[in-house]
Amino acid sequence: MGLKNIPAVDEILAQKPVTKLIEKYNREFVVQLVRRTLDQQRKEIRASGQSLERAQILKEVVGKLGRLAEEASQGTLVRVINATGVVLHTNLGRAPLGNRALHYMQEMAGTYNNLEMDLERGERGSRYTHVEALLQELTGAEAALVVNNNAAAVLLGLSTLAASREVIVSRGQLVEIGGAFRIPEVMKLSGAKLVEVGTTNKTYIADFRNAITDQTGLLFAAHTSNYKIIGFTEEVTLEELVALGEETSLPVMQDLGSGILLSPSGWGLEEEPTVQACIKAGVDVVTFSGDKLLGGPQAGIIVGRKHLIDAMKKNQLTRALRVDKLTIAALEGTLIEFLAGDPENNIPVIAMLARTEELLQQQAEELHARITSSIGNHKRVELIELIPLEDMVGGGAYPTHKIRGYGVEIKFKGISLEEVARKLRQTEPAVVTRRQEDRLTISVRTLLNDDAQTIAKLLAEVLSVK
Ligand SMILES: *Cc1c(COP(=O)(O)O)cnc(C)c1O
Repeated sequence: MGLKNIPAVDEILAQKPVTKLIEKYNREFVVQLVRRTLDQQRKEIRASGQSLERAQILKEVVGKLGRLAEEASQGTLVRVINATGVVLHTNLGRAPLGNRALHYMQEMAGTYNNLEMDLERGERGSRYTHVEALLQELTGAEAALVVNNNAAAVLLGLSTLAASREVIVSRGQLVEIGGAFRIPEVMKLSGAKLVEVGTTNKTYIADFRNAITDQTGLLFAAHTSNYKIIGFTEEVTLEELVALGEETSLPVMQDLGSGILLSPSGWGLEEEPTVQACIKAGVDVVTFSGDKLLGGPQAGIIVGRKHLIDAMKKNQLTRALRVDKLTIAALEGTLIEFLAGDPENNIPVIAMLARTEELLQQQAEELHARITSSIGNHKRVELIELIPLEDMVGGGAYPTHKIRGYGVEIKFKGISLEEVARKLRQTEPAVVTRRQEDRLTISVRTLLNDDAQTIAKLLAEVLSVK
């Protein structure tokens, strides 16, 4: 066996290319890689029973190190081109941020800031003041609080307003939302006692009224987000719930899920109550996500009555669920865009939904031309076609609604669709596509910046490797 020919670690570290690696990274890191590579080399030699010359082993190990160092020094989070046409793709990080949020976040990230300092008085301030005024202005609510995500917002709301008390919820709204957010489970965790009323398809305000006892702490409504009951259905309206809350002096909390600030009807989507509309209707507490249709960072936004929000701010849980300066900066940037900017152009998620069919078709034509010029003549390409597509909002919003979109579909020959799709997921940046029957489809709605150009280039790259 040729194990005796395995060079010593120090011998490898003394090689010129390796000393360069030590300069670029650090010694400990490179030593670890050398050890790992030598172990692997030993295993290979043992398994094959082959004996290699010392010089050959040395060359192989040194040759591998550069690539290994490059790989090991990279994060696992990589850029992905979303060609699926699903705007809020939870697996792909939901909302890409707009420029205002990005600039603001970058500026605050690398410097000190007044996160918790009142600069006028030179005293300790609160991190929650930063977005509060913006949220008051935009939603009409008396007060606001931001926590880690909407799941946290619901948890905090329930824990503050109804711990060890009863919370009445319609059976039609006991939903599970992506990544295992289950209303009944969150309820349990908060210490509140769930009282289910009505049936899966029909709940009346009388069901709520009949369930109220002296133990009741809260009337709760949840947006069913990712599913829809159709047919004979009846759900309690917000107005009815608010009226009952007023009559019985019980607070009403609504988990909106994907809170919107702009009416989506102009984008061809069904009308949904905006956050402002819920506040105006008299809902006491509204919770929603920062990274769904708001198009901002992951966050849970709570708006509503001041005394209730104040109580939440004092809850110890708030400390555990708090957001950091980056989230606050990104959220401020996003909210300012809604207040004083142009969200339909500058918030990517909104811009993607607001884009007209004509524009999408035009973009699909451009993509078609680019792809045709890059792989149109390739022997593995059977056809490239511009097609209308059905895009989705995603993120648990509008689960059954398909939005008319455009894209390009490609049919391959002599190579499986799975293989092309897999290879595209491994390019840099990675490309995540959709398929329709035996074709790969690329929707233009969710492409950003020069993604179209990049996709055309990457397709050629993927087809050229054997
Ligand atoms: C998405 C959603 C949640 C969870 O929000 P996160 O921000 O992902 O924690 C909770 N409730 C509803 C109704 C939702 O749609």
